[in-house]
Amino acid sequence: MKITIIGQSTCIPDQERETACSLIDGKHLVDTGWCSAQAMRPYGFDPLALESILLTHLHQDHYLGLPALLFHHGLRGRGERPPLQIAGPREYLESVVGAALEFLQVERFPEITPNLTLLPLSSGERFTLDDLTVETFGARHVSGHNRHEPTLAYRFTNAAGKSVVFSGDTHPHPPLAEFARGAAVLIHDGAHTPAREAAAIARDAGVGRLLLTHYREEDGPTLLQEAREVFSDTDLAEEGMTLLI
Ligand SMILES: [Zn+2]
Ligand SMILES: [Zn+2]
Repeated sequence: MKITIIGQSTCIPDQERETACSLIDGKHLVDTGWCSAQAMRPYGFDPLALESILLTHLHQDHYLGLPALLFHHGLRGRGERPPLQIAGPREYLESVVGAALEFLQVERFPEITPNLTLLPLSSGERFTLDDLTVETFGARHVSGHNRHEPTLAYRFTNAAGKSVVFSGDTHPHPPLAEFARGAAVLIHDGAHTPAREAAAIARDAGVGRLLLTHYREEDGPTLLQEAREVFSDTDLAEEGMTLLI
């Protein structure tokens, strides 16, 4: 399994950076950032090669890039291509994808309607993408006005039994350690969880490596230092970073 960090920045990304999003095997995108259709190209990835988009949750910084991806698929992806699968929390998935299509004016321009399938998900589900097994787990994400946002952590496991876990946006949530148990890599939110607590989850889960993501550039060195005091095998997710597991 090849994991590429396309973006690692915060909700309003630093200049010339992309909000946290990652690509698996060049065809499964976890969150869209603001403009991942463009941001993935310098690393040699073609947005048209995407087979699925997995949204951790429906906060804007995680799906702003969706209309551009759908436009790309609608405009270039005509013909006999398999449908693009969009997965995410069932509470808001359909309404957000519907709004993206409306934004693209597909009723007025039906020829750019992308070929899509939706996969609404809850916590505790399990499905496959090619030779990968994907599992979901409810993170704990509270935004302004104390709203609990349905948010899924994803665990991708390859045929060799090696896993990567994406926490999604989450406030400190120790049960995540059980979900991430023994994963080769845990890619954990560095924005809503203090770095030491993310590191404690990585330690308790016994993961091989922790990457902190969704952070402001200027906060990176401090986050890294704090996390390494608890879990030494921590690094900052960096754009363009590739992990092979
Ligand atoms: Zn976010
Ligand atoms: Zn969020």
